[in-house]
Amino acid sequence: MCYKASFIKTRCLSSCRNNIDVYEQLAVQRVNRDHLCFIYSDVFLWAFIRFASYSLTYTSMAMYAFHQAAVAGGTTMILDFVIPQNGKSLLEAYDRWRKTADSKVCCDYSLHVAVTWWSDKVKEEMETLTKEKGINSFKMFMAYKDVFMLQDDQLYAAFAQCKEVGAIAQVHAENGDLIAEGAKKMLSMGITGPEGHELCRPEEVEAEATQRAITIAHAVNCPLYVVHVMSKSAAKVVSDARRDGRVVFGEPIAAGLGTDGTHYWNKDWAHAAAFVMGPPLRPDPSTPGYLMDLLANDDLSVTGTDNCTFSVCQKADRMSVIWEKGVHSGKMDENRFVAVTSSRIAKNSDADVVIWDPKMTRKISAKTHHQAVDYNIFEGMECHGVPVITISRGKVVYEDGQLNVSPGHGRFIHRKPFSEFVYKRIKQRDQVSKEPPVPLAHFLPLVSDSAPDGGEDGCVWDCTVQPE
Ligand SMILES: [Zn+2]
Repeated sequence: MCYKASFIKTRCLSSCRNNIDVYEQLAVQRVNRDHLCFIYSDVFLWAFIRFASYSLTYTSMAMYAFHQAAVAGGTTMILDFVIPQNGKSLLEAYDRWRKTADSKVCCDYSLHVAVTWWSDKVKEEMETLTKEKGINSFKMFMAYKDVFMLQDDQLYAAFAQCKEVGAIAQVHAENGDLIAEGAKKMLSMGITGPEGHELCRPEEVEAEATQRAITIAHAVNCPLYVVHVMSKSAAKVVSDARRDGRVVFGEPIAAGLGTDGTHYWNKDWAHAAAFVMGPPLRPDPSTPGYLMDLLANDDLSVTGTDNCTFSVCQKADRMSVIWEKGVHSGKMDENRFVAVTSSRIAKNSDADVVIWDPKMTRKISAKTHHQAVDYNIFEGMECHGVPVITISRGKVVYEDGQLNVSPGHGRFIHRKPFSEFVYKRIKQRDQVSKEPPVPLAHFLPLVSDSAPDGGEDGCVWDCTVQPE
């Protein structure tokens, strides 16, 4: 039995949108009980993986729980996503999110806003959000066809507007058209399990989109942040671009650094299903180590958790997983750990401190976590390095396993446009590239009516330029 994409979409938007936890449990139960097959569409992911933090479906309860878990895991500021529906106002989605969040958050937070469609109104709202609402990053999707996906010309327009207003363009880089075709192919082959999720969106689908995003961003000289870099090939694209001087940043996420996609072939259906996220984890087991090497050496820049994971646990375990796989393994030192997990993001947050015990160990388990969920993809991982005390805004909010948080303790952090970290180089490049064009007369001798026979590059000789 299959959920039809439209059915899931409807469920998410109507009956369950006001209680994402219930929705999630229901969905998991239904899928387990009925052994539903996966629908390898973006719509499926959009609904089923729940996009919990996406504006329309994120309840205050879920938000509070998420922040609690984050604080317990040593995270003191959260950057979440507002994802307006296709055709809907960015500003209204933002306002709704703020209204829900401000009185509930127990640590500081800020927001990225997604651009899921394009129009003059969207363009205007991006400017308002940047100038008046503390937003300096916008996320664009190259996947999720017919839902959030932007075409190349729309990406170009959105990136150009980011540049204009001083925001960083973020991109979910996967080729949505190829995924849609891959999904049809999997179903026609009778592949209906979680493994089909990876099979219909293999590495090159991610690498191609990453390269395309970098090319488009470069065309408008806009800084680019590639969220959730999940594969070796996409990471290599980012790394090569940085070495070519592009202002691009790649973000591997805790899931991609801590585990791999071999789990999609696990015989236990529920186990395999728990690992589904977009882009998927990669079956090549050397991927996490490779991504960590690139992160350690600044080919990739910063870590996150993104939205596309099953539970808040995995977000909350971010610090421990990265310490274990990065610092404990000897791939990076403590300073680099702070740089990739904290300092670049939390600079604005005052008096936020995490006291970390590098010798202490703990085993990650859904059962002992601060958030009760069915499954944790890091289940059983032994982690060296444990947060002992978390201080948020000068207050001890977590100490030795005890949470001491209250709703509304956190603040929304306004982020300024034209952040120097990304825009200083961009501005300077604009400055020096403002050279006057070469006068047309200089080209005239190169243009001739009489192209030599057998000339390889016909188009050069075919064109005729008329001086004004
Ligand atoms: Zn994404």
